[in-house]
This record gives sequence, structure tokens and C-alpha cells, in this order.
Amino acid sequence: NDETNKAVKVAVAKGDGIGPEIMDATLRILEAAGANIEPEYIEVGEQVYLSGNSAGITQDTWEIINRNKIILKAPITTPQGKGYKSLNVTMRKSLGLFANVRPVSALHPYVETNFPNMDVVVIRENEEDLYAGIEHQQTQDVVQCLKLITRPGCEKIVRYAFEYAKVYGRKKVTCMVKDNIMKLTDGLFHQVFKEIALEYPDIQNETQIIDIGAARLAANPQNYDVVVTSNLYGDIISDIVAEIAGSVGMAGSANIGTNVAMFEAIHGSAPDIAGENMANPSGLINAAVSMLAHVGQSLTADTIKNAWLATIEEGYHTADIYKEGVSKRKVSTSEFAEQVISRLGRTP
Ligand code: ATP
Ligand code: MG
Repeated sequence: NDETNKAVKVAVAKGDGIGPEIMDATLRILEAAGANIEPEYIEVGEQVYLSGNSAGITQDTWEIINRNKIILKAPITTPQGKGYKSLNVTMRKSLGLFANVRPVSALHPYVETNFPNMDVVVIRENEEDLYAGIEHQQTQDVVQCLKLITRPGCEKIVRYAFEYAKVYGRKKVTCMVKDNIMKLTDGLFHQVFKEIALEYPDIQNETQIIDIGAARLAANPQNYDVVVTSNLYGDIISDIVAEIAGSVGMAGSANIGTNVAMFEAIHGSAPDIAGENMANPSGLINAAVSMLAHVGQSLTADTIKNAWLATIEEGYHTADIYKEGVSKRKVSTSEFAEQVISRLGRTP
């Protein structure tokens, strides 16, 4: 345990569907690894919506979040029907979570993928672009959505991408835009990228037009390292990257803001397998690993990451990645956590 200071307070949301099971598994691992955190539980999601709060979050919860500043969140279910807002979008906007960071790497040969050497981090702008929520109905048959791009917004996300590359020893940052068509909006993003890249002479940089860039990323992901892009493009390419790595249940993500950061798995609440003790907790475990690194507990983060990798490599697989001949044993959510715990402190 590398932590000498006071425990880091974390607002913990157990979520809906498989959320409570994967959160329990994750917290047990954190505790066994000696993570110096102090969880404070918050209620967000389905139960809150159904109690009549259409935002899915109460004022008390906002206060806890603003006090703790770090959130570990399991997936939540947004009820179907009009009037319910996506809590994910609400939280990103209200908390100023400007960067969405999704590291995805292949775990060949333990998890099937066509791209055994891929190791890509997509850094997506999270507040602006076509997601700014400015939509109008012009006439009955004409509707409009405004694409909002600001220089400060571009500077924050591009600088974050280069700083990320620096801190994590990444070699290259690729910018994806469509500035041949959207000369002002995407042109500004590209211009800011060129300016900030000059400040990082040790990190390679390149810019690709999003259409061919996405196609090349899908065909040869091993040629990419860090990719930075705007909100909508980032939404699309981060799903492509996660999918071709072969592992919706495996990847975690970080939503980074100036004051608050939120860590979560990339997948949803999977109500079809909820309560069965069979979900893969890896996405949330990886999110928790990023959280520990973010709060300066890198040694504990590495310890957990190595134990997790060893568990996967030694063939203890939940049903979603279980494969005859490759896996050693099919394990439940809770058993998977026990297997990880039993490997803590082992060197890889
Ligand atoms: P939501 O409505 O909250 O998005 P969802 O069921 O659509 O929930 P997805 O992430 O889209 O959630 O997952 C799609 C399917 O993938 C799930 O129905 C489930 O079968 C599978 N899945 C997702 N996450 C996991 C996981 N952690 N472990 C095992 N299977 C998973
Ligand atoms: Mg879904």
C-alpha cells in the first residue's frame, strides 16, 4: 500500500441491474488490496426515477458528490418513456466532466480478437459539439441541431490528451476531425491541436479526417495510440475500439472534470443477467484501477491490475468470455473477485 495520507473519499453508486453485484466484487478487491479510500454510498438511477424524480438524482446526492469529488459508479437503468432524462448526460453536463477516457487493449489469446496487439486510448470531448443540446424545430418539416465548438473547450480536451500521453508514456496522439467540410468548427479543433502539439515535441502527432481515420482504426488498431476527438466522433469510435477488442464487459472509462471525476464501466446495466452472479466485473474493476491512479494511489492500482491480468491469463473466466479449450474454469462474479484477491501482490 503506497498510501500514507488521509483516505480519499469516494461517492459510490451501486447502480441497477448487474450494478450491485459488480460493485460488491470491485469493492472487495479494493479493500483486500489496501486501497486507501472511504466510500460514501449514493442512490442514483432506477429507484430514484421511479420515486418520482425524473432526473434520477436528488439534491442530497449532488451535495455528497460535490463534497467527495470522486465518483465510482456502476451502470444504471433509465426507465423507458417520456420525461426521463439520461442521468449520464445530466452528470457530465452538471459536473463539467469534459473528458471521457477509454483505454482498450487486447488480451490475446485469452479473449478473442482479430487484433492481438491493439492498445488504444480514445479521449473524447464530453460537453460540446452536437451534444450541447441545442436543437430547434424550424418548421413542421425542418429541424436543426447546432454544433457548438469553443476554443477553451478544444484547449482543455487537447491538452488533456497530450498530458495523458506524457504521464502514461504514450508515443503518439492522433486527432480526428472533418475540417475539410466543417471548416469553422472542426477547423478550430484542428487548429488548437496543431498549436498545443508544438508544446509536446517528444510526442508524435498526426491528424486524420474522421471517415478514413475511423476506417483505418477499425482495420489496423495497432497503429494507433492515443486518439483525441470531438463528442460525436468520439462516441462512435470508442464503441468501435471496444467492440473490436472483443470485450464489452472488460473496459472501464473515466469522465474527467476540473473538480470532479467519475469512473465507470463502459457497458450498461444488463438486466437480462442481473441477480445471477454471472456478470463480468472487469469493466468496473478497470475503472476503479483508473480511479486509484487518478487519486495518486498508483502502486495499489498496479497491484490490482496485475492480479486481474493474472486471473484472466490463468483462465478464470466469467460466462461472457468463457471459451472451451482456452478457459480453465467458468467462474461467477464473486468467485472471479476471489480469484483476483488471491493473486494480489504476485508479480506478473
Ligand atoms: P442498459 O439499458 O443499461 O444499457 P443493456 O442490457 O443494454 O443495459 P449493455 O451494456 O448494452 O447493457 O449490454 C448488452 C448486453 O451485453 C447485456 O444484455 C448483457 O447480456 C451483455 N453484457 C453487458 N455487460 C456485461 C458484463 N459486465 N458481463 C456480462 N455480460 C454483459
Ligand atoms: Mg445498452
